[in-house]
Amino acid sequence: MGLKIRSGSRVCRALALATAGVALLASGVEAQGAKGAAAKKAEKPARPKLVVLLVVDQMRGDYVDKFREQWSGGLKRLLTEGAWFRAAAYPYAATETCPGHSTISTGAFPASHGIVANGWWDREQQKMVTCTSDPDAKNTAYAGGSTKGGDSAWGMQLPAFAEELKFQTGGATRVVSFSVKARSAITMAGHKGDAVTWIDPPGTLVTSSVFGTMPFVEEFAKKNPVAQDYGKTWSVSLPQSAYLYEETAVGARALDGWTTTFPHALRGKEGSAAPDAAYYEQWVTSPFADTYLTKLAETAVDSLGLGKSGATDFLGVSYSSVDYVGHTFGPRSWEIQDILVRLDKDLGDLFAYLDKKVGAGNYVVALSADHGVAPIPVDMQKTGVDAGVLSLTELQERIEKALEPLNYTKPVVARMAGNEMYFSEGVYGRLKADPGAMKVVLDAISTMPGVAAVYRAEDLGNGTTPIAQTRKAAVLSYFAGRSGDLYVLQKPYWLMDSSAEGSKRATGTGHGTPYNYDQHVPVFLMGFGIQPGEYFESATPADIAPTLAALTGVTLATRDGRVLAEALKKPAKKY
Ligand SMILES: [Zn+2]
Repeated sequence: MGLKIRSGSRVCRALALATAGVALLASGVEAQGAKGAAAKKAEKPARPKLVVLLVVDQMRGDYVDKFREQWSGGLKRLLTEGAWFRAAAYPYAATETCPGHSTISTGAFPASHGIVANGWWDREQQKMVTCTSDPDAKNTAYAGGSTKGGDSAWGMQLPAFAEELKFQTGGATRVVSFSVKARSAITMAGHKGDAVTWIDPPGTLVTSSVFGTMPFVEEFAKKNPVAQDYGKTWSVSLPQSAYLYEETAVGARALDGWTTTFPHALRGKEGSAAPDAAYYEQWVTSPFADTYLTKLAETAVDSLGLGKSGATDFLGVSYSSVDYVGHTFGPRSWEIQDILVRLDKDLGDLFAYLDKKVGAGNYVVALSADHGVAPIPVDMQKTGVDAGVLSLTELQERIEKALEPLNYTKPVVARMAGNEMYFSEGVYGRLKADPGAMKVVLDAISTMPGVAAVYRAEDLGNGTTPIAQTRKAAVLSYFAGRSGDLYVLQKPYWLMDSSAEGSKRATGTGHGTPYNYDQHVPVFLMGFGIQPGEYFESATPADIAPTLAALTGVTLATRDGRVLAEALKKPAKKY
């Protein structure tokens, strides 16, 4: 299938350069193979047989530099055999799971694909909706489990790379995507897919009516109940001297049934004798969930014969445990280091499996993260830096109180969702027409400890003037109708906390800001068509989809990313 390239546009020229590289590479190989039928059999394919997209939920870019000495498996292999974009970072503000996965899969930023957060305030329904909740879809549970609701990628305004691949190859492509989280599995695949599966508490494998069920997943779910890891213990994998920082992380949160120090037994609530809700929370916060997904991915490769359809197949796996561990124990814990050691082993197993089944060099791997994470505030405070927790409940109360003398009906704030503030119906319009009242509101927010700035929707929707980096990041996250009326930016190292008054959080950490610790993530490419090396060029995870599109001869309608042409192999032969 040829790729039509029109000259003239900047986007087309970049794509032309990259695809020309791949085409030349393919022609070179063909010329060598033309010598005889036997040689022709050994020819490398002109396109990768399989695209493997891996997302590590909440993997900071600097983990690679800090912890690489601890790795000997798949992460090490990406470092030695892959292309590593050291400076890759999200340029937008909404550094959360759903926007991150959608950006990786579509090659566009939230302002384009519309996934502005994991959930937003639906102004019509006057309630919070999740990024994948879809009233027209119905979820189905595997292996006799139960589930509710319906999820799809309806909210994603652009097709994912995997969808375009399937569409443009005439349907021969199989799209397979797995994660513990629905929002990760779904947005990696897109609006349709062949085996899109996630796991709901207490360990039920689930898909939805828009994707349909798969017999091999049913069989896997029956053979491998999540409860089978009950009673196992997560202990450190390496000698104690191999770990950085303190054995017990400052400010770590104690999960139900666990202490904040290794080892961590998966036995549920204290005194519990069978898998319970606490067990499931422990399981997703342990290496066992990642290993489970790896096994499921290997089963898919085998059952569907991925890489053998003649077209390019797509396998996406999003590993969520690093996120759960990071929120609980923080980025300076032994737990975060050990979960990566275990993931490194899982990825090593997966790559070895793919080498055997698909053939080394016949598949291309892209690995990135959906976002990073902030240090735990109490840990950061030890350095003397201004860090803390900003209570959204308190912030909301300040605004209600400030507007009290001006006869606004309570509640004026309908919802504070992360950094996004949504006013009750009609309130923001009234504030815009009343500069005095608007000033009262903006002052009430700005004077709250931990607040760095507040941006108004109308200033984010038409980002034409030169602006500060953080506001630019908020512009790239802004999508009219879904984003809030105001965007409240905290200071660096401050966390937004939505817990109720009096139960202010003191432990654990989070993400979601336009600061570098949340934005900087790894981007690795390895395998078919990839030139190994370390690359310092600026890059974003939105560059992954355009690069994969270039390697597979697929055209994306629109994109904010670029083809990472510097990491594509140069032609084997010049002519
Ligand atoms: Zn998270």
